[in-house]
Amino acid sequence: MPDVVADLIEALGPDVVRTGDAVPQRNCADWSGVPPVRPRAVVLARSVVDVAAAVRVCHAHGQPIVPQGGLTGLVGGAAPGGDEVALSLERMTGIEEIDVDSATMTVLAGTPLEVAQEAAAAAGFTLGIDLGARGSCSVGGNVSTNAGGVNVLRFGMARASVRGLEVVLADGTVVTGLNKMLKNNAGYDWTQLFVGSEGTLGIVTRVVLALHPAQPEVTTAFAVVPDFVAALIALRRLQSRLAGQLVAFEAMWPDFIDFSARVCKAHPPIDPGAGVALIVEAASAAAAGGDRPLETALADLVEDGIVTDAVIAKSVDERRRIWAVREAPPAEYPVHVPGFIPYDVSIPLGAFDTAVGELRAALSDRWPGIMALFYGHVADSNLHLVAHLPGVAEQPRAAVNEVVYAVVARHGGSISAEHGIGRQKRPYLALSRSPEEIALMRRIKDALDPTGILNPGRVL
Ligand SMILES: Cc1cc2nc3c(=O)[nH]c(=O)nc-3n(C[C@H](O)[C@H](O)[C@H](O)COP(=O)(O)OP(=O)(O)OC[C@H]3O[C@@H](n4cnc5c(N)ncnc54)[C@H](O)[C@@H]3O)c2cc1C
Repeated sequence: MPDVVADLIEALGPDVVRTGDAVPQRNCADWSGVPPVRPRAVVLARSVVDVAAAVRVCHAHGQPIVPQGGLTGLVGGAAPGGDEVALSLERMTGIEEIDVDSATMTVLAGTPLEVAQEAAAAAGFTLGIDLGARGSCSVGGNVSTNAGGVNVLRFGMARASVRGLEVVLADGTVVTGLNKMLKNNAGYDWTQLFVGSEGTLGIVTRVVLALHPAQPEVTTAFAVVPDFVAALIALRRLQSRLAGQLVAFEAMWPDFIDFSARVCKAHPPIDPGAGVALIVEAASAAAAGGDRPLETALADLVEDGIVTDAVIAKSVDERRRIWAVREAPPAEYPVHVPGFIPYDVSIPLGAFDTAVGELRAALSDRWPGIMALFYGHVADSNLHLVAHLPGVAEQPRAAVNEVVYAVVARHGGSISAEHGIGRQKRPYLALSRSPEEIALMRRIKDALDPTGILNPGRVL
């Protein structure tokens, strides 16, 4: 009886199905740091017809499949195992339609996010999804991980941008639901089930994305508040004053600012001292006298003693320098703190400050001298933490995980704010989801993929 690889080659040809040395190196790993492994074969699908044919063959053989987009995922979801067939969407790129009246765009799932953003901009729109990996990640990957990123405060997670989908189910059935309308309550919205399912329920092949009007000019401020309580008051006041215009609200604690200035030479425009530093952005046109609404709102917060000090970027270069304070450290971690242990968690905002204090205390009690940097997309309840033990070659990743996730769980937080569960966070899923929730996920998985061939070992 022919094996699965022979059947795949017979169905799709050797240009589409690569094995052995012909497997491209890029398809052997993702950005998560999981060691590269050559999969049994890579299918470089050219169309939904290819995807459906490949899945049908794999289904007949009970062959595990790992879907791959841009391979920028950070939890090992797209990193293949040696017994898996990698199903890559990288050839399936292109904007199929921009519907100006519906304000939607229909794209093939392998299209790089940046290509979709540029097409939206050329048509006079803004796409609601944006993240650092925009040049490499794919729209299908964004949908499958329910990506967050830098525009969540304004436009929501990727889920909020999805109007319609086409997916290939585990038996090769193609389901097409390329809805463009905001309102469509005709039965279950099955498309949302696939958003954030990390390739475990089906392969996303086409996406209809909502578009937004082109954005007015953005005003950027660097501000300092005495503590996190004041940061939350400032956030609420700005949200009410600048309704719908707030684009970013980032917080950085003193250890992070110190690392940014001392190690990365990205100096803040004002010294936050022991306070919490904020980067705030609002997209709003200047008032008649030239005043910018964010500037006026911050001036009032300074007068009320909520914000200690604030500066507004007066040029593109000043804006770039403000953002460098926030963006330089992540780019420098691999150089200055190799083996660093990164976290991307959510914590309810009311418990945020307490949790940061508890995390700092728990880590330094257990590992005196540990470096722990705290920062995050506060308005999204999203906390980043980077931990590193200086001078230790083998960082105690598993033990640090236990400490960090225990605090997150105690405050009702989520072990995954943005990146999904993949392989790396799977052991901790029960800290953020109840047994009943996990049992429900298992029932959905079993209903859609009864033989368990789609991304086994990820999420559940
Ligand atoms: C520098 C950098 C910055 C980042 N910033 C952010 C951020 O701000 N917010 C954020 O959320 N993420 C961020 N990420 C993580 C990553 O970029 C996102 O998760 C992105 O959405 C993944 O897209 P991808 O095409 O690279 O997917 P991949 O890495 O290829 O795959 C990710 C998961 O989705 C599955 N998958 C991929 N394509 C499909 C498909 N068509 N159908 C079904 N399943 C599929 C894979 O099997 C895997 O489980 C960042 C990553 C980097 C490297």
